[in-house]
Amino acid sequence: MQLSARATSLIPSLSLSIDSKAKAMKSEGIDVCSFAAGEPDFDTPEHIKAAAIASLEAGFTKYTPSSGIPELRQAISDKFHQDNQLTYNPSQVIVSSGAKHSCYNAILATCQAGDEVIIPKPYWLSYPEMVRLAGADPVFVETKEENGWKLTAEEFENAMTPRTKMIIINSPNNPTGAVYTRPELEAIAAVAAEEEILILADEIYEKLVYEGAEHVSIASLGPEYYDLTITVNGFSKAYAMTGWRLGYLGAPEPIARAIDSIQSHVTSNPCSFAQKGALAALKGDQQTISDMREEFDLRRQYMADRLSKIPNLSIVRPFGAFYVLANIGRLGLTSQNFADRLLSKANVVVVPGIAFGNDRTIRFSYATSLDIINRGIDRFEDFCRTV
Ligand code: PMP
Repeated sequence: MQLSARATSLIPSLSLSIDSKAKAMKSEGIDVCSFAAGEPDFDTPEHIKAAAIASLEAGFTKYTPSSGIPELRQAISDKFHQDNQLTYNPSQVIVSSGAKHSCYNAILATCQAGDEVIIPKPYWLSYPEMVRLAGADPVFVETKEENGWKLTAEEFENAMTPRTKMIIINSPNNPTGAVYTRPELEAIAAVAAEEEILILADEIYEKLVYEGAEHVSIASLGPEYYDLTITVNGFSKAYAMTGWRLGYLGAPEPIARAIDSIQSHVTSNPCSFAQKGALAALKGDQQTISDMREEFDLRRQYMADRLSKIPNLSIVRPFGAFYVLANIGRLGLTSQNFADRLLSKANVVVVPGIAFGNDRTIRFSYATSLDIINRGIDRFEDFCRTV
């Protein structure tokens, strides 16, 4: 088999394989409490589904412009303006098949062999592989639990070399739940601007912030930062549309043009009728977002409170996304070993932190019912006593 070095160097997604193991156990009738979900457990709101169905019935089933239908690009441009104080003309907006695709397009359009991309650890597990696929080198920077798992401007500065091309900032963060504050982002952006380093701002969890935490778009901090930033967002998390595969980005005009060109040759347009659903999502009632956020918030508080009381375990209280990262370092097992034993002994699924580049942690998702959270944490507590 003549596989490319590019393909053989990839690390398969650990979180997806754990999820399928848990699903297999469930289908055997085993009572599994899974905290592995990377997607909202809510259904897509009805008005969004109805718009997509109506467009299908009206025959909206053909190719669209490669970067998305004009009315959706306009609606995204308006959304950036309203929610994020960002001016991206529709020509600067590219709609793709998921925010994952948007991130990859952004990296592919700007990074190449010889370039380094700074990725704070723990990271969302696809970033390093995307950087490698582009031929560039990921450079990891450990963040500290005492800093809330957030990269400091100083740590960023220390990691820079003449080859640094880009830094990836994901706030609200998967897997830590951290939300960077405005001053923290200003300090990071200032370091990037000094050396003209690009910033990939992955803002996919924008709508899921709690306890008064504020989501800030890096590109809105000033024109010198806007020119260096590619802002990624999408429909998956805010509108519970993970399966629809629709994400988007806003970028300076030359970068947007390059991404348009790449996308036109690789995938062409994202799904036509899904785009009509997305348009309804942006134009319709936003109440569903607040309802979902409220429910997530209850679970977040419950889960964080209970986990913080378990001996020999520590957590940083999360203010965004739907994850809690727990430090299991004092329990003496690697994260993979811990997660495997937890699954086989207690039927509880978590994602080992090694998947995110940190072997002393495990990730809990609260994108599941309060009942499962309650039962699962009971079992988890018992398990921790026996480790
Ligand atoms: N960025 C982060 C940080 C994510 O957690 C995810 C989804 N797990 C994505 C991007 C990709 O989202 P999408 O489903 O829109 O491709």
